[in-house]
Amino acid sequence: MSQSNLFQILVVEDDAPVRNLITTTLKTHGYRYLVAENGESALMQAASFAPDAILLDLGLPDLDGIEVIHRIRGWSEVPIIIISARSEDSDKIEALDAGADDYLTKPFSVEELLARLRVAQRRQARQNETQQSPFYENGPLQIDYAAGRVQMCGEEIHLTSTEYKLLCLLAQNTDKVLTHRFILQKVWGSSWENDVGTLRVFMATLRKKLEKPIGAPRLIQTYIGIGYRMMRV
Ligand code: CA
Repeated sequence: MSQSNLFQILVVEDDAPVRNLITTTLKTHGYRYLVAENGESALMQAASFAPDAILLDLGLPDLDGIEVIHRIRGWSEVPIIIISARSEDSDKIEALDAGADDYLTKPFSVEELLARLRVAQRRQARQNETQQSPFYENGPLQIDYAAGRVQMCGEEIHLTSTEYKLLCLLAQNTDKVLTHRFILQKVWGSSWENDVGTLRVFMATLRKKLEKPIGAPRLIQTYIGIGYRMMRV
């Protein structure tokens, strides 16, 4: 049995054709799934069946999708992927800040959906392990939290304390899109909330250092107008 067969996904979507497209895709690729046609039913199913990931539409007939995220995050860290017709950055940012992991904008391709699910699956599988371990490893990147040491491709990388904090935050949230606001609050405290320019400067130097060793891959992905993500390699 492949791993995907054990993975159960809650599909929250009120639009029947979109819901059918998603569930057909899931079925074809060996995923198990549950469906909810509104927010209240999504909350009930999430609580009763503890799915491994949630695909969530934001425009629901009863509750707003953002409200659903807030309520689920009250008790669960399950990966939540937004599937929404709202394409404004502000909607995505609001959903990510509420605790969603990722987003897809309608219309989306089936391949794109499957790729996001694989990311969620990996993230779920590693969640406990990464939170407890004093070491972080992601391909050629290694962080020794106890020693405060960072290595890339076997080369030691010297970071300032702010760059190190930034890297640790991204590492601890590998595969998750982090918004500018979230990063600024965690690294600098809330008074810096709107200083995206500062963040951009620190991120550029951090990247330059990480990508300096020969063969170093680009690990930090930019989401223009939204934030950053550390990719698992
Ligand atoms: Ca809808």
